[in-house]
Amino acid sequence: MNYVIIGNSVCGIATVEGIRKLDKKGKITLIGNEKYKAYSRPLISYLIEGKTDLNKINYRSDEFYEENKVHTVFGKKVVKIDNDEKKVVLDNGKEIFFDKLMVATGSKPFIPPIAGYETVKNKTSFMTIDDAKYLMEHIDISKNVLIMGAGLIGLKCAECLLGKVKFISVVDLADRVLPSILKKEEAKSVQDVLEEKGVKFYLENSVASFEKNVAFLKDEQVLPFDILVTAVGVRPNVELVKEIGGVVNRGIVINDKCETSLKDIYAGGDCAETFDISFGDKRVLAILPNAYLEGETAGENMAGGNKTFDNAIPMNSIGFFGFHIISAGTYDGEKIAIEEDGNKRIFYVKDDLLKGYMLIGKVDKAGIYTSLIRNKTKLSTIDFNAIIKEPSLICFDKKRRDEILTN
Ligand SMILES: Cc1cc2nc3c(=O)[nH]c(=O)nc-3n(C[C@H](O)[C@H](O)[C@H](O)COP(=O)(O)OP(=O)(O)OC[C@H]3O[C@@H](n4cnc5c(N)ncnc54)[C@H](O)[C@@H]3O)c2cc1C
Repeated sequence: MNYVIIGNSVCGIATVEGIRKLDKKGKITLIGNEKYKAYSRPLISYLIEGKTDLNKINYRSDEFYEENKVHTVFGKKVVKIDNDEKKVVLDNGKEIFFDKLMVATGSKPFIPPIAGYETVKNKTSFMTIDDAKYLMEHIDISKNVLIMGAGLIGLKCAECLLGKVKFISVVDLADRVLPSILKKEEAKSVQDVLEEKGVKFYLENSVASFEKNVAFLKDEQVLPFDILVTAVGVRPNVELVKEIGGVVNRGIVINDKCETSLKDIYAGGDCAETFDISFGDKRVLAILPNAYLEGETAGENMAGGNKTFDNAIPMNSIGFFGFHIISAGTYDGEKIAIEEDGNKRIFYVKDDLLKGYMLIGKVDKAGIYTSLIRNKTKLSTIDFNAIIKEPSLICFDKKRRDEILTN
């Protein structure tokens, strides 16, 4: 069997691991257009903070590719899939043939169409090691940085630049930080933490235009800056599959075996749409655990297995200067809030199911709540009142404890 994987990141690596569970011998070719070994994208801010380095940021050991007999093609981009001839074409014209193909191409930063954007000098996104290197080369304590986007990527960037630049401004259309993860009150707590450290937020606002390194905001404020970081969202890399007629919505459409609509072509991770069981519909869940589980599922199925991944939910673990929030699922249904010693636990319950939660401050044992959502556990079958006060496996009968521990 000849396996080809496009994308050398979490989902691509998980695909290798999935394949190798069942097929120790088949040929695996892993193609990635970044020149690095797979790395943990969430750690790029730690590179700037000096908390990690280019070796420690690697997602797997140095021996991973050799141990798994993976032929690597790094620094090359796949420009075309030919599913009739079962081959992919690289940007240097080279062709690589496959029996089974995995598309794990992730996403790219969205660049909003803002007048004058092209006149801005010193601008970057914040998604790759190269972006982090760019910032490290351009920042110093005399520089003002403007970040467009108060989502996770924008805030992680702000956090790692604090103390290394003169001033950081963050502009976002939304009325709060982390708008896709947090409700207003919790978002305000995160905003307070960052404001206390010196970040200035311009919310419910946007850049109307740029003139070189001056941003003119919608409310007519004027912000001069030295470096611009664009972090207003991402777009799934779907083009390779779309061009050959694969079904694509916002992301590549896959089933619970991670098969696309095209024979022998699989997809997963940030480039694909997943059925979110807490939301009740398909959407792009651009989070690391999802990318891993889909890659692993695709890999096993490519190697002849019969694995399904049918309990995806959004999950986030966020920490800024010792202030921690863990959240999962959707905030739909009756809200139950518990506050104790400055820690908050907020639950959303609907139709006898836990739909979502946020833990603020004390975030241990969150996995118990996550498993209640993932397993669609009927709350009337457990001592939910005890669990929301103090998450403990003791609240479950033995069968349920075993299920949670093995999930
Ligand atoms: C700053 C930052 C912080 C984050 N923090 C968190 C967090 O705290 N928790 C969390 O769960 N998630 C976090 N994420 C999201 C997480 O990193 C992604 O969900 C995860 O990396 C997705 O993995 P993936 O393999 O699907 O795609 P990606 O990691 O995007 O990798 C796709 C790879 O495919 C390559 N590629 C694309 N097209 C081609 C082509 N045509 N040919 C060859 N190669 C190609 C790309 O260059 C890339 O290397 C964060 C992301 C960023 C940027």
